[in-house]
Amino acid sequence: MSANNSSNQSIAIVGAGIVGLACALEMADRGARVTLFEKQWPPRGASWAAAGMLAPAFEAVGVADNHPDLFELCDASARLWPEWARALEARSGKLAGYHPGPSLAVATNEDDARKFSALQAALAQHDQAPTDCFARLHEIEPSVTGDTIAALLLPSDGQVDNRQTLEALVACVTAHERIDVRLDDIELSAEKRVIHHSGHDATLLTAGWQTGAVRIKQDGESRDIRDIEPMLRDIRPIGGQMLSVAPMPGGPQMTLRAGHLYIVPKAARIIIGATSEPGRALSVPEPDQIADLLAQAIRICPVLKNAPVLESWAGVRPGRNNHAPLLGQTCLDGVFVASGHFRNGILLAPITAQIIADIILDGRASPLASAFAPYADVSAQV
Ligand SMILES: Cc1cc2nc3c(=O)[nH]c(=O)nc-3n(C[C@H](O)[C@H](O)[C@H](O)COP(=O)(O)OP(=O)(O)OC[C@H]3O[C@@H](n4cnc5c(N)ncnc54)[C@H](O)[C@@H]3O)c2cc1C
Repeated sequence: MSANNSSNQSIAIVGAGIVGLACALEMADRGARVTLFEKQWPPRGASWAAAGMLAPAFEAVGVADNHPDLFELCDASARLWPEWARALEARSGKLAGYHPGPSLAVATNEDDARKFSALQAALAQHDQAPTDCFARLHEIEPSVTGDTIAALLLPSDGQVDNRQTLEALVACVTAHERIDVRLDDIELSAEKRVIHHSGHDATLLTAGWQTGAVRIKQDGESRDIRDIEPMLRDIRPIGGQMLSVAPMPGGPQMTLRAGHLYIVPKAARIIIGATSEPGRALSVPEPDQIADLLAQAIRICPVLKNAPVLESWAGVRPGRNNHAPLLGQTCLDGVFVASGHFRNGILLAPITAQIIADIILDGRASPLASAFAPYADVSAQV
């Protein structure tokens, strides 16, 4: 059964990270009754651990193996962010932490500089050519005094304090009269191919890297849902470690990218990240990795050597081979998925919520949304 054409449906959502919370709010606003199942409250998954960059250009253009439409999806979501953040703030009375671009990308070696040329050429095709700002680098961001050989301003790439966003979302969701939050696991079951959704019309899986491990009882036997929906096997853990330091006079003001390193100044902390560790479901940071990240950041912004470390932590991205989310109906009747957002789940939250509400409540998917469906034909039909 697909949950079509009703503003009165009842939807179960498994996982209350930024994706589950955003989808819950969107569907409840469109009239659905939503039960949000979360095993840790308040939620502290990847959405809490992230750096909060909203970076369609740096993350989605010219990256080997990316889904061909990932930039388009990321760019569309980046355009939704200002209004989405404003609405969250108005509803919750809390800051959503949104800051528009530009971000500053610097190259410290020939390899990274060559990637800049590719990035410039690719972005020019999307009418978003970045500005070469190397000649003005020290005026634009005086804290960058380490060795650099190229610098670009990326107008599309902003950032958000994702912890503030999460708190604003939690406030909206808990206050919503059509959303019920349960600190619990769902009892999904399948008997002779008929799915029971714990009393709901449909289920949406948004459990981050653990999406494939959501349990379902099939003909009396409890198993991982990925055992019966192979598309979910591709979602796997990619660990990430980061730290934050205290803001200091003369410290970085702009979001900085340098190869795989980023330095992201927020109001009360400067985030430095991140490692990328396939297959590692990390829960605690490792001192040598954190020290290495800090040393790399100091090479770019030497002033950071004076900054007290505030916190270090680890999180787990929901990775996929093509670095893009799965959005839409699974092979199981009434079971939908929004997961696998990898490095862009914060950026993609607003558009994911719209796409999922369109599919589940209205039975429609735009051509862009259909490109991310688990089964393109199924999504086009719903
Ligand atoms: C170090 C790091 C840096 C990142 N930086 C950025 C960035 O700068 N920009 C960006 O856009 N993205 C970034 N990301 C990626 C982004 O954080 C993720 O893509 C995004 O948070 C995924 O959101 P989610 O809601 O799917 O998952 P999560 O936030 O992990 O939420 C999943 C939730 O499901 C719950 N859950 C799991 N299983 C069950 C179950 N069986 N029953 C009930 N609940 C369950 C978990 O407790 C969790 O709360 C980063 C990630 C990491 C780790």
